[in-house]
Amino acid sequence: MQQADISIIVPVYNESENLRTLYSRLLEVVKSLQVTYQIIFIDDCSGDDSMAKILKISRENPNVYFLSLTRNFGHQVAVSAGLNYCNAEAVVIIDADLQDPPEIILDLYREHQKGFDVVYAKRAKRKGESLLKKITAKLYYRLLKRLVTFKIPLDAGDFRLISKKVVDALNQMPEHNKFLRGQIAWLGFKESYVVFDRDTRKHGKSGYSFGKMMRLAFDGITGFSDKPLLFVSRLGFIISLFSFLIIVYAAFSHFVLEKTITGWTSLIICVAFVGGIQLLSIGVIGEYISRINSNVQKRPLYIVNSTNIKSEANSNES
Ligand code: UDP
Ligand code: MG
Repeated sequence: MQQADISIIVPVYNESENLRTLYSRLLEVVKSLQVTYQIIFIDDCSGDDSMAKILKISRENPNVYFLSLTRNFGHQVAVSAGLNYCNAEAVVIIDADLQDPPEIILDLYREHQKGFDVVYAKRAKRKGESLLKKITAKLYYRLLKRLVTFKIPLDAGDFRLISKKVVDALNQMPEHNKFLRGQIAWLGFKESYVVFDRDTRKHGKSGYSFGKMMRLAFDGITGFSDKPLLFVSRLGFIISLFSFLIIVYAAFSHFVLEKTITGWTSLIICVAFVGGIQLLSIGVIGEYISRINSNVQKRPLYIVNSTNIKSEANSNES
């Protein structure tokens, strides 16, 4: 694949009705930027006719490439696949559902030309998303910010422009539980942002199920912070101390005061409390163990079913 000025990576999962509009809006953008470009659609095994549409577009335009994955690997992996294959000075990651307006790329590119390696698009408003999603997202990003030791931008998704340097660095990060916005922040390149209003999804419904969202949220935390482990062990210490005091008190009241407690309530509360904390702690530890597990297996991150990208040295799947 020839190197272009800009590469646009679009993960696609059941976006049939959005693809044409997205494509023509992207074309307008690259035309007004007057740059050489490549658009890479990654079909994350859609169940609709998204792939047929992508094929059609790629036949019309030699700058349009596709990667078709063998099964649904999820948004983060689909984007990572695109990053493995792209070949450009500047790379834009954008959703296919038009929630990220393609015209913002003009601002991202302008900002990049001032010398920033990462330009992310910060969401001022999120139209058409449920109050619950907005609130949990707000809380989550603030929690994450407190847990990690490096600067992580608030209220920004994966819609952003990154330079070739950043892409090369990302492609060297071997972790399996991808959380790209965290990885990019961890890399620490010079970054800037533009503010935008996130649109509503034009057609179809969100491919991010509750389960996928929880997975991403956990990966964001466990991938970049050990504080939950520290918290759990401290909590364990405090509770043990507390339990010890209760034991002393119980022995004292039995042998010295000789009035043993008959209360069932206090006992059951203690048992339930300690049991709950124990389960929670084991769960947290389990999250980290599952990360270790998937990383030691060293399986490829995704499998490509078909593509029109001629494989060269740059297709370094990891
Ligand atoms: N997506 C994907 N694989 C998935 C789920 C989503 O490639 O398993 C794509 C989807 O087509 C879209 C982007 O990732 O381009 C963001 O997904 P979505 O709009 O469903 O998420 P939301 O905006 O609701 O968080
Ligand atoms: Mg969306």
